[in-house]
Amino acid sequence: MSVKIVEHATIIDGTGRDPYPATITITGDRISAVDEQAVSDNVNGTRLDASGLTLMPGLIDAHCHMTFDEPSSNDELFFHRREALAAIIAGQNVKKLLQAGVTAFVDPDCIFDIGVDLRDAIEANVIPGPRMLSGGNALLTSVGGTAGRLIPDAGLRGYAKVVSTPDEIRTEVRRQIKMGVDWIKVHVTGLLPRQKMKGEIQAWSLDELKLVCDTAHELGVPVMGHCRDANSIRDSVIAGMDMLLHATFMDEPTLDLVIDKKVPITPTFTFQANLADHGHTVGADENLREIFRREIEESAELIHKAHKNGVPILCGSESGFSLTPYGEWHYRELEVFVKELGFSPLEAISAATMQCGNHAGFDGETGSIAVGKLADFILVDGNPAADVTILGDKSRIKSVYVGGELMNTEPLPPRKPISGWRTSQYSSSILTKDKIDG
Ligand SMILES: [Zn+2]
Repeated sequence: MSVKIVEHATIIDGTGRDPYPATITITGDRISAVDEQAVSDNVNGTRLDASGLTLMPGLIDAHCHMTFDEPSSNDELFFHRREALAAIIAGQNVKKLLQAGVTAFVDPDCIFDIGVDLRDAIEANVIPGPRMLSGGNALLTSVGGTAGRLIPDAGLRGYAKVVSTPDEIRTEVRRQIKMGVDWIKVHVTGLLPRQKMKGEIQAWSLDELKLVCDTAHELGVPVMGHCRDANSIRDSVIAGMDMLLHATFMDEPTLDLVIDKKVPITPTFTFQANLADHGHTVGADENLREIFRREIEESAELIHKAHKNGVPILCGSESGFSLTPYGEWHYRELEVFVKELGFSPLEAISAATMQCGNHAGFDGETGSIAVGKLADFILVDGNPAADVTILGDKSRIKSVYVGGELMNTEPLPPRKPISGWRTSQYSSSILTKDKIDG
């Protein structure tokens, strides 16, 4: 088995511990020793000098849509993607995650059935990529999710599989598990055209959520729920969900329940933060920018409280949309955690490494620098414990190792347009006469 010895590095181990100097030995695909002294020259192995560099676990992104290919609208995502081409492109896009220092990720839901195939291709070394865990299609009731009337009354559209009866719920959960998903994802909340309440509301009954969880759990597969309002968060926890995505509008009783059950939360602020802070540069709607800025501000305190009370809070970027392209923003959630949620940089790093390794389905095999863990790590020029945003500078990610293997992080050749892949608009506003008169 190959042995590598990484010398003179400063270690950030992912646990939250302060950085310290150490020598790391890698045997095969795992870390076999962490020595705070130099390792004797008599030990055989390839020696790598990491002087001046930080060695830390690779980033783990707990919320990444690898098969979407950066659409700028639901119309594009639902009506302009082709299965085979989407799979080929996803195989190329995963390399961008490696370039950004991401060594593992969770893909909650995919278009077609591409997710598990992409994961299998990475695992079989057909294409290089981070470790991947995959969901199938997101389960929705016919009330829909955030895509409104674009969701059909039955069947599949884009990532969304509509299930209405208990039989359909059981059949679809079992079908996905037979395909080999690592997670079942439920879109618990949605937006209705004439609803009285503000924001997303619960689109499933508690009994239906329980049925999803029971059916999946009987077969040993965990369930995650996209939920925004307090009711949906409460019922998702009662139903037995294993992870909550967003969970941004809890009330105090719901927060107490979440704290009691310690259900991991992946708030996923990156999409909102990008839209709020940089949306104007890509022509995003001003009203949406306000809504998303408020979501971060209003939920910061509750998420912080959950964190302080031992609820695992995980970093996920929602990469895969035009506002969150692959390989660009995986560090951004750490920045939001530090600036808006009151995390220390080391806590934010832990949320993007060890916490994901322990609570996003990886069984604690990856996400920290410790003996016995998979050797998934990055060498960084600079000290992310002082400033997490340096993790967003690809020129500082000096090397990326997955399972002890050095990954190729050369930039990809620029892509040319693909016929019919992106939606095009005639214009961004209406050409009334008064726009040209005067
Ligand atoms: Zn998502």
